[in-house]
Amino acid sequence: MIEVSHHGATSGVTGSCHELSLSRGSQKSGILIDCGLFQGQDEGRGASASDLSIDFPIEHIRALVVTHVHIDHVGRIPYLLAAAFEGPIICSEPSAIMLPEILEDALKIGFTRDRQLIERVLGLIRSRLVPVPYGQWHSVFDEDDCSLSVRLQRAGHILGSAYVECDARVGDSEERIVFSGDLGAPHAPLLPAPQSPDRADRLVIESTYGDKDHEDRETRRYRLKAVLEHALEDGGTVLVPAFSIGRTQELLYEIESLIHEFGRGAVASGMKMGSDPVGSDPSFTWESLEIIVDSPLAAEFTRIYRDLKPYWDAEATELVNQGRHPLSFEQLTVINSHEDHLNAVDYLARSHRPCVVLAGSGMCAGGRVVNYLKAMLGDKRNDVLFVGYQAAGTPGGDILTYGPRGGWVEFDGDRYDIRARIHQVGGYSAHAGQRDLLRFVEGIPEAPREIRVVHGDEDAKAAFRERLVSSLPDSRVVIPD
Ligand SMILES: [Zn+2]
Repeated sequence: MIEVSHHGATSGVTGSCHELSLSRGSQKSGILIDCGLFQGQDEGRGASASDLSIDFPIEHIRALVVTHVHIDHVGRIPYLLAAAFEGPIICSEPSAIMLPEILEDALKIGFTRDRQLIERVLGLIRSRLVPVPYGQWHSVFDEDDCSLSVRLQRAGHILGSAYVECDARVGDSEERIVFSGDLGAPHAPLLPAPQSPDRADRLVIESTYGDKDHEDRETRRYRLKAVLEHALEDGGTVLVPAFSIGRTQELLYEIESLIHEFGRGAVASGMKMGSDPVGSDPSFTWESLEIIVDSPLAAEFTRIYRDLKPYWDAEATELVNQGRHPLSFEQLTVINSHEDHLNAVDYLARSHRPCVVLAGSGMCAGGRVVNYLKAMLGDKRNDVLFVGYQAAGTPGGDILTYGPRGGWVEFDGDRYDIRARIHQVGGYSAHAGQRDLLRFVEGIPEAPREIRVVHGDEDAKAAFRERLVSSLPDSRVVIPD
């Protein structure tokens, strides 16, 4: 028997975790696809270690396959190891480089401050990693009457992301099962768009944006330009709360392309000589726009993205061939130490120098962006630009809701009045929209016998299921509980 089951997203604090198991008589062997911790609205709800511990049998689990290194797909790996999981961790080559980095950060925040323990866990994780090139079959086990091989294909979501094709055989029956992981949107910068699998008897597919489509990339880039120009007219700082992996690098890529395209043109057309003696320089051009990444983790992932050029898409590769440096351009400064961070906050708040700062966390619930917000929200020359979803109840959500009405936001028990301008540019999601998801499924030459819709909120799953049912009448479409 070949079975698919799901262990994640039941308690609200755990993320993606699927199981594929093969059984014959009393013998059972299986693999896990992802082992994540939920982020977003449930983040910081005080999940205890017992909520996160592995509460399903794993004795028969022979390997973990990681689709990509977002925490909602890998965050529970330390708990899996603590539950005595002994198998390999199979992932793409870029993911193998990024996984220890992301887990080190997660361990420091949520697991322990004990340096030695962190090093031990990371050492254990590194020793289990089995990087597998895209497009190559890898045998997980092959016994007389039972075998399982996996193949990773580019998912276009973040660097290293993959969907997983599994060829399972039990006795005479064999089946191809595909797990989508998270799929990227076409036309995302840097990464090639995902191609549909050539076969999927059963498909497990994400549905984060199963109920909506995104704004397209071309308009989003020009809207980014308009916001930056508008924001820089008065010589303030544009603060961009951003997540470390994916979106930060996409933004840098697009800002570099704006600088390249508009070069010597003035950033702020309305800027007049002497209109603002402190901040504005009439010779200020796109070329002199300074970009600061104030986040050691984002800087580290930017470096990894830069080093892994062989995984970039054709467009980005072409820019490199032309001598461009989309992720390490001249106007880009990285701040690492905490002291430099505090100095930068202080300096930018006083000088009103036109500048773009990217800092985490993405929803302003912590991290270095909080110091910038405290120092800058009260000044109308500054701007906050949101590029990601802001959950209700997070400071980011409050700023977005109350900022435009002249309200306030609370940090560490103090109220901060919001006079800075607040903007939101959509279309930066690293996820496929409904149309992209549908295209991925419809591109499979023979419709899957069964499609399982996972990894989305209830509305998104239901809406996507409806679309699938109407376009693939021969497939059984289920939303597993
Ligand atoms: Zn993801």
